[in-house]
Amino acid sequence: MIPPLLTFLRVRCYRFRIMPDETASCLFCRIMRGEIPSKRIYEDEHVYAFEDISPKAPTHVLVIPKKHFAGLKEAQSSDAEIIGRCHLAAALIARQRKIENGYRTVLNVGPGAGQSVFHLHVHLLGGRTLTWPPG
Ligand code: AMP
Ligand code: ZN
Repeated sequence: MIPPLLTFLRVRCYRFRIMPDETASCLFCRIMRGEIPSKRIYEDEHVYAFEDISPKAPTHVLVIPKKHFAGLKEAQSSDAEIIGRCHLAAALIARQRKIENGYRTVLNVGPGAGQSVFHLHVHLLGGRTLTWPPG
């Protein structure tokens, strides 16, 4: 039962913790909190990286900011650093996986580009030949 004031403030009592509504229900926030299992690849203070559940290449890792925001078009100028950190984490993982000869970082922005999860995420794809342009 959500008290009306909490509803008004767009927060939700979720397992007795109070958090913003979009954070409570967001798939990737739930993965980060360990409520949904994931194969963790890398984590630091700012970002979390895990295997994509439906890989499109031998390496298909998702790198997400620990701070929730929906995607690139919703990002604020104050998010510039965290977006950069996501890409640098992808570069680190690519180095560790020895796929530096050619890999791709992808941000799908909006449903028309295939974005299906509305918590910003960088796809790291590699380990096979990547054609251009993408579909
Ligand atoms: P996008 O379509 O750009 O929003 O990317 C979302 C990605 O999340 C897709 O590649 C999905 O395969 C992936 N995905 C969805 N659910 C999970 C999950 N539970 N664990 C890992 N990856 C997921
Ligand atoms: Zn989220």
